[in-house]
Amino acid sequence: MKVGIVGVGMVGSAAGYALALRGGASEIVLVDQNEALAVAQAEDIAHAVPFAHPARVLAGGYEALGGADVVILAAGVAQKPGESRLSLLTRNADVFASVIAGVQSAAPDAILLVASNPVDVMTDVAMRASRLPRERVIGSGTILDTARFRSLLGRHLGVAPQSVHAYVLGEHGDSEVLAWSPARAGAVTVSHFAEQIGAPITEEVRARIDDGVRRAAYRIIEGKGATWYGIGAGLARVVQAIRDDQRSVLSVSISTPEVEGVTDVALSLPRVVGRAGVMETLMPQLDEREHAALRASAELLKETADSLK
Ligand code: ADP
Repeated sequence: MKVGIVGVGMVGSAAGYALALRGGASEIVLVDQNEALAVAQAEDIAHAVPFAHPARVLAGGYEALGGADVVILAAGVAQKPGESRLSLLTRNADVFASVIAGVQSAAPDAILLVASNPVDVMTDVAMRASRLPRERVIGSGTILDTARFRSLLGRHLGVAPQSVHAYVLGEHGDSEVLAWSPARAGAVTVSHFAEQIGAPITEEVRARIDDGVRRAAYRIIEGKGATWYGIGAGLARVVQAIRDDQRSVLSVSISTPEVEGVTDVALSLPRVVGRAGVMETLMPQLDEREHAALRASAELLKETADSLK
């Protein structure tokens, strides 16, 4: 599979590196408006290949994306001091308009995998700019938040995160919803499991895990300025699900016709991901509080996306 990455700063290059290590692609093409950066990142990642899986790693212009099956969009501009969120969003939407035109001139059929933040709104922007069907414009969404949730639940229960089935829904951001009530370890609800092992999920435990998931990015940014490894690995995971037509259930963002009464809004739900992109969307059974939180998250995202139009 040929994978393109547009924007190879921290997130884009981490995705390229994770793909090289994981063996997700036979060819990886890096594109950036800073050509020297793209060339340097390609050379650096190519040097990891002899220790991993065979792959060709190159830098180039948009034309080099010809024949790409998936293109990761990780281009973006940083917030200027004092700049409003909406102004930043508008500038990033403009960047996307030109990036998508470039990508589609070379690879009109590629699945777009959006990583730039705010990822849900950028996924919506990318879908509208590309005019691709919604199932082929996928945002990384809460894939990482879900991984953090599983990891903290697994730690509390003393099981591998791989044995925990729990999802973070809605926005990748402050309004995200940790879906506690449908969460399972094995076939057992996490609360029942926790009681069985004598470590009940008290309000305090719940608040600690919630904070651990919701505030993770802030903590990492405080320590190192930005986050890139986790999201890089998450993007490589989505590429692998597409490449191998795995039909894995992943919490990713696509424009969704209707959720909690809100129409045409990009957000994360558990979705079946395979060769065609998102093949199915699942709605977990939520309690009233979770339904209300998901509705609020959807409304917030819809409002932000509409303010851009
Ligand atoms: P992040 O931490 O999100 O990866 P960076 O600033 O490290 O942020 O990376 C963003 C990258 O996007 C930079 O390398 C920048 O050159 C690139 N970029 C910005 N605008 C464009 C554009 N219009 N086309 C291609 N790449 C772009």
